[in-house]
Amino acid sequence: MPQNQKRHSNNNNNNNNHKKRPDLRKQVVPKKPKIEGPKILIYRPDMSVADVAQGLSISNAVMIKKLMSQGLMATVTQVIDRDTIEVIALDEGFEVQDEVITDVTRFDEMEIVDDPKDLVKRPPIVTVMGHVDHGKTTLLDTIRKSRVVDGEAGGITQHIGAYQVERNGEKITFIDTPGHAAFTEMRARGAKVTDIVILVVGADDGVMPQTIEALDHAKAAKVPIVVAVNKIDRPSANPDRVMTELSERGLVPEAWGGDTPFVNVSALKNQGIDELLDVLQLMSEIQEFKANPKRLAKGTVIEASLDKGRGPVATLIVETGTLRITDYIVIGNTYGKIRTMSDDLGNRFDTAGPSQPVEVTGLNEVPQAGDIFMAFTDEKVTRNIASDRQSRQKETEQKQMKKRSLDSLFGQMEEETKELNIIIKGDVQGSIEALKGMLEKIDVNGFHVNIVRHSVGAITENDVSLASASDAILIGFNVRPTAAVKKVADNEGVEIRLYSIIYRIQEDIEAALKGMLEPEFEEIVTGQAEVRETYKISKIGTIAGCMVTDGVIKRDALVRILRDGIVVYEGKLASLKRFKDDAKEVRSGFDCGLSIENYNDLKIGDVIEASQLKEIEV
Ligand code: GDP
Repeated sequence: MPQNQKRHSNNNNNNNNHKKRPDLRKQVVPKKPKIEGPKILIYRPDMSVADVAQGLSISNAVMIKKLMSQGLMATVTQVIDRDTIEVIALDEGFEVQDEVITDVTRFDEMEIVDDPKDLVKRPPIVTVMGHVDHGKTTLLDTIRKSRVVDGEAGGITQHIGAYQVERNGEKITFIDTPGHAAFTEMRARGAKVTDIVILVVGADDGVMPQTIEALDHAKAAKVPIVVAVNKIDRPSANPDRVMTELSERGLVPEAWGGDTPFVNVSALKNQGIDELLDVLQLMSEIQEFKANPKRLAKGTVIEASLDKGRGPVATLIVETGTLRITDYIVIGNTYGKIRTMSDDLGNRFDTAGPSQPVEVTGLNEVPQAGDIFMAFTDEKVTRNIASDRQSRQKETEQKQMKKRSLDSLFGQMEEETKELNIIIKGDVQGSIEALKGMLEKIDVNGFHVNIVRHSVGAITENDVSLASASDAILIGFNVRPTAAVKKVADNEGVEIRLYSIIYRIQEDIEAALKGMLEPEFEEIVTGQAEVRETYKISKIGTIAGCMVTDGVIKRDALVRILRDGIVVYEGKLASLKRFKDDAKEVRSGFDCGLSIENYNDLKIGDVIEASQLKEIEV
């Protein structure tokens, strides 16, 4: 595989360069504390109890006590929220301030501040959410088909995760993956790719659980909402009911004096779609979405996959700046040089401006949906930033691993929990998500699976080292490791399992979990013997001359000594002899001599009951 080989040699270059280049992280400049006034605690989103204690110059114990007084029971490694930190900081005479990031390797956390005169209008980015079956997919399809651009009619569109429509000379960008999962997942990763949410509600069905869920997500993200009351063509459609139900949840229609636009549509019959697009453009006008096209592009990955012919492909939405075909980009922790840029109609571009979605090729690895990217003009800089980010990710993961193993230790003290750590790599996001969902549901007598990492792409050395650190099994679904990676895995003792059928994975993992169960044993009594004589022998102890009265006594037996029906001792045989010779077993009707480990008080008449532990299948 020439591509993999190339990647490998790139990595080598990386390592060689690593020592010489300046440490970019040194450029992180926390905001200078003011000379006078309160002391400053610089806040970071991942601060643990211990980090805050250190920042406030108090001991962990004092910190934990303070948290307890706030009604919060926390461990030292636990991450705490900003509000709690502020209360405690205030108590200690500290003011909490956000960290100001100027380190370019942390571009994803950096806020870009532009000169207002460089800002120009950009198309709104719209996400469609709502209850299942209320028509999200149909609406996105109808809108996509509604665009009339030269030469486009009858053209084959391919799903790349986002598309644009043009109306009255202005564009609107739609994210072409309906549902909340994509929206919340991205938001959780810090990506803010949506300007407006279309909340689709079936006019015949009304507000349903996922409608409310979608509403909550949009509100939490402070994204304006347009309600598309869909299926208006149905005889049972009752748009007024939808308005009433949503008003009760704070979305008051404009028609009723509120500020939420409601548009009646039929996605299936293509009714009301123009009006909906008009409303989106009007909202965009009011909200004034702007960006600076004159800078290097920064944006978000909408979708990514490993294409058999083209290698890693990703759909990016440019948030600000202009992406050029000659650019180098860092995405997440990987990088590449843009080779091609195209839209869902297969149109090729040399540049992509703000809010424009493009599918790009030329990346070294498959990024994850929600990853932030940034463009650069210099290959070496790009490579160094990516490798810096990679090492930082490794560090964070190692920290998390430590934390996790501590957590699980605490967990085990409370209840014996056991988990099988798994890393999933696959060719498309969809199947990975499906697989993850399926594996997380597995429960074999309380034993379950913990997904340490799941991402699109080939199995890399990075995956192997995480697997090794977390004692995880690596699962490749339709992807394979290179020979070099396989070798590393062999050396590290990491198990890589390759599959192309999902349910096989489930079967195997269930079997593996069964294997993890502690074997259960059952005690089986094999025989009895009676003590007829006893001899005390110095250095050895008491030897009992016995008659096996029932079954068999084996040399490795566990024994119970019964005296008048009462158990006086439990232990192991120390020796078993027939005449002068060691015996493996003595059967019923035969004499034997035996001694018991650490027990010399045998008496004539004692009954020795021999038993053995047998593993039972669970
Ligand atoms: P999603 O789960 O929200 O993506 O819903 P879909 O777009 O898959 O639609 C669910 C079903 O509702 C499909 O059978 C659609 O044909 C149907 N549907 C969607 N929009 C309309 C509409 O405006 N009118 C009618 N009558 N049916 C619709």
